[in-house]
Amino acid sequence: MTDTKLCSKCGTRKLRCEFYKQKRARDGRQAYCIACKRKADSEYNKGYEQRPERILKKRQFELTKKRMLYKQKWQAMRDKHLQIATPPWANKQAIEDIYKKADQLTLETGVVHEVHHIYPLFQFRHIFMGLHVESNLTILTQHEHTEEHKKLRKKYTGN
Ligand SMILES: [Zn+2]
Ligand SMILES: [Zn+2]
Repeated sequence: MTDTKLCSKCGTRKLRCEFYKQKRARDGRQAYCIACKRKADSEYNKGYEQRPERILKKRQFELTKKRMLYKQKWQAMRDKHLQIATPPWANKQAIEDIYKKADQLTLETGVVHEVHHIYPLFQFRHIFMGLHVESNLTILTQHEHTEEHKKLRKKYTGN
């Protein structure tokens, strides 16, 4: 075994230690020298990142992240609204029972049921002081709920 090896990329004769080890290779070293291997890898990675499916995947990932952040923000805002809209005299047990009943209906019928505020709390950039109390709550199916909110939106924003 010689101490040097010819790089099949740059054609330079280099010391064996200037090649990465490769068990499967006959002489136990890669065909490209370390410098050439690194360059080839970085070029391959660059090409890889620019492939359409990679770009698409990256974009989808960004969008998902954005959506998740939006959802978190929205939920935080909603929690705050619920807190503000709950008067001190609210019957918290009665409110909770309505949410439980919606869950129960969902389980029994297999159709998603949700709790809706008849008078909106804070929505559509207008301030509505609908309260988070049991008399302002009603149970709708998910579909009915979506339709109800569409109606509300139309009523208050015209679109
Ligand atoms: Zn080389
Ligand atoms: Zn609603």
